[in-house]
Amino acid sequence: MKLIFLGAPGAGKGTLVEMLIKDLKIPAISTGNILRAAIKEGTPIGLKAQEYISSGKLVPDEVIIGIVKERLSQKDCENGFILDGVPRTIPQAEALENAGIGIDAAILLDVPDEMIEERMEGRRTCIKCGATYHIKTIPPKVEGICDVCGDPLTRRKDDDPETVKERLRVYHRETEPLVDFYRSRGKLHIVDSTQTPEHTLKLVTDLLASIK
Ligand code: AMP
Repeated sequence: MKLIFLGAPGAGKGTLVEMLIKDLKIPAISTGNILRAAIKEGTPIGLKAQEYISSGKLVPDEVIIGIVKERLSQKDCENGFILDGVPRTIPQAEALENAGIGIDAAILLDVPDEMIEERMEGRRTCIKCGATYHIKTIPPKVEGICDVCGDPLTRRKDDDPETVKERLRVYHRETEPLVDFYRSRGKLHIVDSTQTPEHTLKLVTDLLASIK
């Protein structure tokens, strides 16, 4: 399956995708995780992306398109993939189409903005493996430590309330138009993501079974 997950920052894309790939056995490609790893390693792409990410802006399309095309050309993507956080603009979606990268479904995880702001307050992230937690609703087994790789969890700088507000503005302006883009291609599915991650997972799993 070739899937795209759309939704505001904090809608639950990362958490859901981590749960889904355990069953689906296809790679998840998160441009946010790729960029954070590049920043940590101090690569040229990381240096370029840092400023945009910390101010809640989008990294330029040409950088993202290069990263995604390169990643999707790798062998493990032959049987399918899940895109998490990309495309985020119409030019990114068009670039995928123009490169002949078709998708089976674009799934919008739907959450109102007020709930996003609450969720981001308690979000904690593992910079090493990208796993995300919430101090109340999805706590790690050991406080402050990633269940997956044992690294310390941190609060992403771009999860502070002012940057979250800017990220939501950018989402509505730049990314929301993708809803109509995929609807017009008959690929859009909207899933309520206001409840627990397990609840969203069940809705998505049922949806995938119905479109297989
Ligand atoms: P995320 O982890 O998906 O919330 O992404 C964190 C940040 O990385 C975003 O706020 C953007 O600055 C940048 N980013 C990630 N994916 C993209 C993308 N597809 N297009 C532009 N910027 C992106």
